[in-house]
Amino acid sequence: MALSLSLAARVTELKPSATVEMTERLRAARAAGRRILSLSSGDPNIETDERIIDAAERAMRAGDTHYGPAAGMPALREAIVERERRSSGALYKESDILITPGGKFALLAALMGTVSPGDEVIVPEPGWVSYGPCVKLCGGTPVIVPMLDRIDRAVIERAITPRTKAIIVNSPVNPSGRVLPQDEIDTVLELAERHNLAVVFDQVYSDLLHEGDFAYPQATEMGRARTFVVDSFSKTFGMTGWRLGYLATPTGMAKTIQRFIQHSIYCVPGFIQAAGLEALGLYDELVPVYRERFRARQLRVAASLDRIDGIECSAPRASFYLFPRVAIDDSALASAWLDKLDVSSLPGSAFGAAGAGHLRLSVSSSDADIDEALERIARFGCGL
Ligand code: PMP
Ligand code: GLU
Repeated sequence: MALSLSLAARVTELKPSATVEMTERLRAARAAGRRILSLSSGDPNIETDERIIDAAERAMRAGDTHYGPAAGMPALREAIVERERRSSGALYKESDILITPGGKFALLAALMGTVSPGDEVIVPEPGWVSYGPCVKLCGGTPVIVPMLDRIDRAVIERAITPRTKAIIVNSPVNPSGRVLPQDEIDTVLELAERHNLAVVFDQVYSDLLHEGDFAYPQATEMGRARTFVVDSFSKTFGMTGWRLGYLATPTGMAKTIQRFIQHSIYCVPGFIQAAGLEALGLYDELVPVYRERFRARQLRVAASLDRIDGIECSAPRASFYLFPRVAIDDSALASAWLDKLDVSSLPGSAFGAAGAGHLRLSVSSSDADIDEALERIARFGCGL
């Protein structure tokens, strides 16, 4: 009898991505002719600016179609040094920056570089669906800590053990859009210092800050010395499909983590990086316009949902997400909206138990689709 082949537990035991699977579901339903209005997508409806596309094309035509430096193109790494200097104030060297295919791979590279098998990593909840799985891919154990409304020092401290190696911090938060205030970032850094932890800071929505200040853990020398910054061009420039992001590491560490890149993807395509360099040059012109568009929608949708019985909604200070509290089971409500209204959303519990009782809504569809979705929701409400 032939022996049957089995797959590794590394993949068989990995939970599928709820966000990616929802997008796949919509893709399949639309291909089958069903019209679904999306309030679930983490993909901003921004078409990549023509000049960015032209830069990629120019690079390809000029022959940038070969392997390039594993750490990334020097000019782009320099531009990211400058970007960080302007935004967080952190003074990096080009040698501290690794260019990655998206923020997701920057996260994986940071964890691959810091987490050994058996190590524990503090993971925020509600939190983006890929944190726990990326920790597991590195052989680590995610330790889930609730952080819906605030980062509580005592709650984190209770979760820290001698095996804790790192803490993942995300601001603005996916799914809630919450921006972590300075005192919470300080708490994380104090705990990291006391327990010798790496801080993996995911700032992929930081360019979509609508109000107030933004606190960066890498802004101080002490913070920069233990923070791995994960960032991306995806949300800022509507470049999700280009797969372009970066990891900024504490001084001297990128060189060693680069080995993971050498042995996996080798490098991000040069013409994609050329597009990224062009995008950064257009930042001041493009990003305020995108930001404004999302903010107007966020405020409009929040006000309209808040009028519905059983839904409490206010706009967060950043991102294109809303995270309303709902009076019935969030999974049941998301399913009812999808099945009965053809409106997609994500249940807050997809982002962990601490997200239950909320929906994650995204205002990244067209105004017309959003308005139509709101009309349908206003008629149906919570189905209460
Ligand atoms: N972090 C968060 C919080 C996200 O929501 C995403 C969504 N895609 C990412 C990182 C990674 O994005 P990308 O790989 O497209 O840069
Ligand atoms: N991050 C986005 C989201 O949360 C895109 C999908 C993903 O990468 O998880 O919807």
